[in-house]
Amino acid sequence: MLYRTVPKTGDNLSILGFGCMRYPSTRTGGVDEGRAIRQIRHAIDAGVNYFDTAPLYHMGKSEQVLGKALAGGYREKVRIATKLLHLSVFERGDMDRILDGQLSTLRTDHIDYYLLHSLAGASFERMRNLGALEFLDAAKKDGRIINAGFSFHGNAEDFKGIVDAYDWQFCQIQYNFLDEQNQAGTEGLRYAASKGLAVIVMEPLRGGNLAGRIPDAVQKIWDEAPVKRSPAEWGLRWVWDHPEVTVALSGMNDEVHIDENLRIAGEALPGSLSPEERMLIDRVRDEYRRLMKVGCTGCGYCMPCPFGVDIPGCFADYNTSALFPHDRAGKFQYIGHHGGLMGGKSYAGLCRQCGKCQKICPQHLPIPGLMKDVSKEMEGMMGVMVPVLKGLLWCSGKLGKVKRAITGETAHA
Ligand code: SF4
Ligand code: SF4
Repeated sequence: MLYRTVPKTGDNLSILGFGCMRYPSTRTGGVDEGRAIRQIRHAIDAGVNYFDTAPLYHMGKSEQVLGKALAGGYREKVRIATKLLHLSVFERGDMDRILDGQLSTLRTDHIDYYLLHSLAGASFERMRNLGALEFLDAAKKDGRIINAGFSFHGNAEDFKGIVDAYDWQFCQIQYNFLDEQNQAGTEGLRYAASKGLAVIVMEPLRGGNLAGRIPDAVQKIWDEAPVKRSPAEWGLRWVWDHPEVTVALSGMNDEVHIDENLRIAGEALPGSLSPEERMLIDRVRDEYRRLMKVGCTGCGYCMPCPFGVDIPGCFADYNTSALFPHDRAGKFQYIGHHGGLMGGKSYAGLCRQCGKCQKICPQHLPIPGLMKDVSKEMEGMMGVMVPVLKGLLWCSGKLGKVKRAITGETAHA
């Protein structure tokens, strides 16, 4: 296993992080706890020391299973990363209550890496106004958390603003060879690294889409490589080729994939791809872009839209949905990013056809017309789904409070 150093602290993290959001399932769809625990311990025995979880993953079960897996001496060998979701927070007291509950669930007295979860510009401002930065200071001071960070799904400008707003030790961004100019992107990666933040990469394979079913035209390019590698290996090696990346998270739930990832993580030094290999990946990226519905490069020149549309973000999710029509997650992702579930509303249907963006776009995309297409294709169920999903999230936050009020139970119980 290779390790990279957190610049501000000197902590050594395995370049492969275990993402605990996709545990193996039982036949009835629940978490296969026994298998998940064996996989986690196998990864630790092979040198993985960074485990990323969140209350949202597996509806709360992810933290529970990780806590169980780390019993019996494993806790001391790893760093736990978990998160505070802004949608679960209504007042400052919620932050302490949620963190104390997480410590109890994870069976530990401290969280090594604690993140404000899924920030974008508006959600960060809301959390800041609720006192999140003072909460992080206090939790670091009393030892409940060691390092403070945030995970991010907004645009590069908002990202830089958040990086500069606090003395973070790390951040977590979506990054892969298709997302160089989407969300924080390469610009954000370099910016965070230049400020001394460790960068944890999520979705290095776009949720498995770059490693699962591959479009035929893309596979043909991979087949030309003199060294035969799986698409997953190419995708991971591309991420680790960047010296600014500290850890790449993989949501591992298959023993064969875990062992493949462990092998690659023992070899993928920064700068280890040859110029020819980088060119091959560039060709794959170009082929993916050719197959996509909209040739948006994510440059962001068209932003901000006066009516709040996240133009490159809407196109990115629209393209994902078109590239992988077998995967319904694309539309859920769109609703999550733009429907107001994770922050402000930024969906294509907000477009008022003013045309401001079209004059600036270097790709000369007919953006107002495309926004109509995106809205028609992606927003059919949005009006129903957003309130339902928000209600579920709200209930998951409030139910714990009601239960404790009835039973008198404390968060540490
Ligand atoms: S045309 Fe639509 S997307 Fe473009 S700036 Fe105007 S409202 Fe925003
Ligand atoms: S200016 Fe054009 S290419 Fe750039 S992000 Fe906007 S739509 Fe995409």
